[in-house]
Amino acid sequence: MCWIGEREAEPGLVAEVCAHIHRELRQPVRAGFEPERPTEAWDSRRGQYETGVILKWLEARHAGAAKVLGVTDVDLFIPILTFVFGEAQLGGRAAVVSTARLAPRGGAREAERMLATRLRKEALHELGHVYGLVHCGQPGCVMGRSPGVAEIDTKGESFCPDCRLMYDEARGHGR
Ligand SMILES: [Zn+2]
Ligand SMILES: [Zn+2]
Repeated sequence: MCWIGEREAEPGLVAEVCAHIHRELRQPVRAGFEPERPTEAWDSRRGQYETGVILKWLEARHAGAAKVLGVTDVDLFIPILTFVFGEAQLGGRAAVVSTARLAPRGGAREAERMLATRLRKEALHELGHVYGLVHCGQPGCVMGRSPGVAEIDTKGESFCPDCRLMYDEARGHGR
């Protein structure tokens, strides 16, 4: 995974996401350094970044990586929605997730913890898509749809047994 945000990366947050992905996907995860930013994804009319462009950019720039997750702090969109928390190439190689709409209001300490929890869930969710997993209706499964932060907060941080099986299968096939 690599940080592609506008502001400086928060090392604690990046480390937490890496640790969670490593724990859940049971694969080595490297926090890579990315000096460039996907500036071509900027849409000045909407004032947001288009995820499709970011995914292509990530894929091209990290051609050597089996999978790549970009983590950013800019606001993301896909053309049919006003915003997205993240997006992934289903069964592909690249995923992106943003903190932009995950930060809650309230006390700094509490808010920081909540943001980290939400980001861990959405990072794993998008990587699940990269491994071909689709949205899941099992209560608590991290692959549940999340149109808003309320849905993120009610779901768990892990795959349900069915999604876990599908993930293991996808990985076994070297996808
Ligand atoms: Zn999804
Ligand atoms: Zn599931």
